[in-house]
Amino acid sequence: MNNETQPMRIPRISVPRHPVWPALGAAEKTALKARIKTLLKERNALLVSHYYVDGDLQALAEETGGCVADSLEMARFGSETDAETLVVCGVRFMGETAKILNPEKRVLMPELKATCSLDEGCPADAFSAFCDAHPDHTVVVYANTSVEAKARADWMVTSSIALPIVKYLRAQDKKVLWAPDKHLGHYIQQVTGVDMLLWQGSCVVHEEFKSVALERLRRLHPDAAVLVHPESPDEIIEQADVIGSTTALIDAVASMHNPEFIIATDEGIFWKMKQLAPGKKLIAAPTAGEGATCESCAHCPWMAMNALQNLEQVLRSGGNEIRINEAIRQKAVVPIQRMLDFSKAQSA
Ligand code: SF4
Repeated sequence: MNNETQPMRIPRISVPRHPVWPALGAAEKTALKARIKTLLKERNALLVSHYYVDGDLQALAEETGGCVADSLEMARFGSETDAETLVVCGVRFMGETAKILNPEKRVLMPELKATCSLDEGCPADAFSAFCDAHPDHTVVVYANTSVEAKARADWMVTSSIALPIVKYLRAQDKKVLWAPDKHLGHYIQQVTGVDMLLWQGSCVVHEEFKSVALERLRRLHPDAAVLVHPESPDEIIEQADVIGSTTALIDAVASMHNPEFIIATDEGIFWKMKQLAPGKKLIAAPTAGEGATCESCAHCPWMAMNALQNLEQVLRSGGNEIRINEAIRQKAVVPIQRMLDFSKAQSA
């Protein structure tokens, strides 16, 4: 097995503070939601919300015929609707993926600065040089990458389909160049045994989960199942009862009989889990290390940039539109479509 990693330094990521949105009174919130619903109809627009954004944005998407999903389903949904406009509540690569797949649609986002540490940590030039240095490898990128990085890839994957695709490549004796998440890449490497080069990016949210504090929390809750997203470090994954994508973790809460769950991923996911399993106790995995009070602060600062207020603004103004150079889009669509075709063939 090849454990070589890329020689370049990962750029220093500037992580923003969590935005503080002005509190809304109940009447104010109801009125704001009503205005958003009217604007969605007037603009022939649908909301596509990720599991990590605020619960109000997930509820609105469901109430108005949009979709609440992980990256894979978000990508699929845009192509399956006749709406002229998609408003993507999530982070930038999600809006870009929607635009790559639906160039004829207008794609808006509440905040274009909502990015991702994985995307930021994989600059196109350095990544392209890494690919050039290893021409005998199949390039597999995670969805959390720029359009340019996707344009350089053979395959794009999301966490829910990464394992089947890498197993498929392994069966063909392919060597894989993986980017950008080192933890997810390492996990896949261990499970599949594939010869893999890893880019050394990481998610600033999942990397914060602390193993000693998690062990202590497990002792306090012996009946709890531990659910872990594979973007987390090894020592967290090793304590998991279930390792899986956001969708797999939501399914686990709904189907497992444990009364309690300790969850190591962004706390935005609790909204959907509570909806599907209202009687279960959900505990956030600790992020503060030794001495933690188990009050997790596991919430992506970029996902938190999405709110009812800027969603309404963007629907009113039509601003914050995602635009992509057509020549790059045509290259970037190839690895995404390959993943969607693979997924369709699998479920056929
Ligand atoms: S939670 Fe992590 S992987 Fe997801 S958008 Fe935020 S920084 Fe990126």
